[in-house]
Amino acid sequence: MSRSQEVLDEEFVRLASIALRIPESRLSGMLKRRVLQKVSRFFPDHYRFDKGIAGLETGTALFKTDEGIETVKGFPKIQRAMMLAPVLTTHFKGTTRVAVEEKMNGYNVRIASIKGTVIALTRGGLICPYTTEKVLEDVGEDFFRDHPDMVLCGEMVGPDNPYVPKDIYPDVDSISFFIFDVRHKNSGKPLTIGEKHELCGHYNIKTVPYFGEYSLDEAADSIAGIIRKLGESGREGVVIKDPEMKLPSIKYTCSQSTNSDLRYAFGFYNDYGRDFFFSRVVREGFQAVEWDEDEEALRDRCCRLGESILEPMISTIKKRQQGERITEDVQIRVRSLETAYKFEEHLRRMGIDAQFDEPQMVDGQYLIVIRKFNQSTNDRTGAILNGQLW
Ligand code: ATP
Ligand code: MG
Repeated sequence: MSRSQEVLDEEFVRLASIALRIPESRLSGMLKRRVLQKVSRFFPDHYRFDKGIAGLETGTALFKTDEGIETVKGFPKIQRAMMLAPVLTTHFKGTTRVAVEEKMNGYNVRIASIKGTVIALTRGGLICPYTTEKVLEDVGEDFFRDHPDMVLCGEMVGPDNPYVPKDIYPDVDSISFFIFDVRHKNSGKPLTIGEKHELCGHYNIKTVPYFGEYSLDEAADSIAGIIRKLGESGREGVVIKDPEMKLPSIKYTCSQSTNSDLRYAFGFYNDYGRDFFFSRVVREGFQAVEWDEDEEALRDRCCRLGESILEPMISTIKKRQQGERITEDVQIRVRSLETAYKFEEHLRRMGIDAQFDEPQMVDGQYLIVIRKFNQSTNDRTGAILNGQLW
């Protein structure tokens, strides 16, 4: 590390210590261990927590401004209900009603205005240049002009999506941003569900579909009905929230979405962590029991699960056998090639090995296919086909 970089870090540590009320020595230690990392390039003086610590979630981003340090807290992890009915009574004890929202399937983004510039942060606290270009199409600058102290948290969904491409939302042809939480900068404190809807309505900002409030005793049945409907249209599930946003939210998802995750991931079976597969299979077990399925429904569930596991794997093995390389193809659509170049660098920084195809002009924008190399699945499959032992 250069001398001037060290001086910059010292200044940052001093200011961050005041803002976060964490001793300077502890922050310096975290910088050394790279729990706290400086991110250069797209925004000056930006730091991120690569791992969470008490009170500061993973992905918390810190910015040095003229006034000191501004903090955009990491988005809190949402725990999953496996058995809906018992979870509702234990988790929401003390409340009488719950708010139910659609859980949209894309990637988590936090938007904030820092020194007058609107930026989009992905889960880990990096500024994504592609997302930043895109969110500005959905969220006008006027919101942040009036509320520079707010953070909009939402999901980027749609097919032109370099992280989680899904073509399951009829109104989204390319990629679009839907808000699920509005939070205060620095404290991370959320607005209530009512306040969020009022504020977003006022600025014409899209929010995730809202199913309304349910009394706690009818919620499990109502949510099961919503989940069945959502599943039929390939959607992911719901997030169940305390209308006052004082208790943590919980999530519950559809069997169809679990299967579509498995179908996708088993095509790259060696690149995904084993827990990804295991936790999804377990979900299916609990849902089948809670919904007390008859023989026919159970058989359907078993077949669906087996097909979601084996079919993509067989197709990957055959592809490799024919000498094809295993890639995960995604696409982006940009107005300026500059954004694509910056995004290429962003992916490299995240350690993703990808190749960008030549841009094609579609409706005045550049459509670019990105081939992510799933090296581990590729190599392992090739080796096994050549006789390697497991
Ligand atoms: P993590 O919980 O760390 O994000 P994960 O991959 O397990 O990791 P998901 O299973 O996708 O996360 O569930 C949590 C995510 O769901 C949130 O981070 C958010 O991006 C997304 N989400 C979609 N719709 C909503 C909603 N209505 N309210 C809150 N979060 C939502
Ligand atoms: Mg998700």
